[in-house]
Amino acid sequence: MKTILDEQQVRDGVQKMARQIHETYGDDPLTIIGVMTGSLVLLADLIRLLTMPLRVGVVQARSYRGATTTAGQLTLNTDLLPDVAGRHVLLVDDIFDTGQTLLSLVKHFDTLGSTSVRSAVLLRKHGRQAVRLQPDFVAFEIPDEFVVGYGLDYQDEYRNLPYIGALEPADLVAESRS
Ligand code: 5GP
Ligand code: MG
Repeated sequence: MKTILDEQQVRDGVQKMARQIHETYGDDPLTIIGVMTGSLVLLADLIRLLTMPLRVGVVQARSYRGATTTAGQLTLNTDLLPDVAGRHVLLVDDIFDTGQTLLSLVKHFDTLGSTSVRSAVLLRKHGRQAVRLQPDFVAFEIPDEFVVGYGLDYQDEYRNLPYIGALEPADLVAESRS
C-alpha cells in the first residue's frame, strides 16, 4: 500500500474544510448528515471542529457495482435521519467519484423541505465525474486510484487506518464496492 495522504495532511485538510464551513454558515444552526459508512471518521473529526449549533444524523447509501466502475442502483436507508425540514443541511461523504451517490442524495434531500442542501467530501477523484453537481466543500483532489483508510474500506476492511492509502491493482479483485 502506498500512502496518498498522511495523518497530518488529513488533519490539516479537515481543519481547512471546517474553516470554510464556518465562513459559509456563520453562526446559523446546521444539520450534518453523514453518509455511512465511509464518512464515519470524517464525521467524528469534523463535527468536533464546528462551533455553530449542530445536529447530526446519518443516512446509509449503498451502490452495488460489478467489476466495471459504472455506478449501480443506489439504495438509501433514511431510518436514522433527523427532521431536516426548515434546516440547513450539509451532507458529508468520504469520496466524490462519479458523483452519482451525492447527486441522488441531494435530490432526495431537496424533497424534504430543507432550507439549503450542500455537500462536503474529504476526497474528489480526478477525472471520474459523470454528473454536473460538484460538492460545495472538498478537502483533497486525488488521482484515479482505489483508496482506503480514514473511513474508506476495501471489502469492509481498512476503515480504521488513520491515513489514506492506495491499494495496488494486484491487491484488488473484481468486487462490489459501497
Ligand atoms: P460515486 O457515487 O461518487 O461514484 O461513488 C461514491 C462512493 O463510492 C463513495 O461513497 C465510496 O463508498 C465509493 N468509492 C468510490 N471510490 C472509492 C475508492 O477509491 N475507495 C473506496 N474505498 N470507496 C470508493
Ligand atoms: Mg460511500
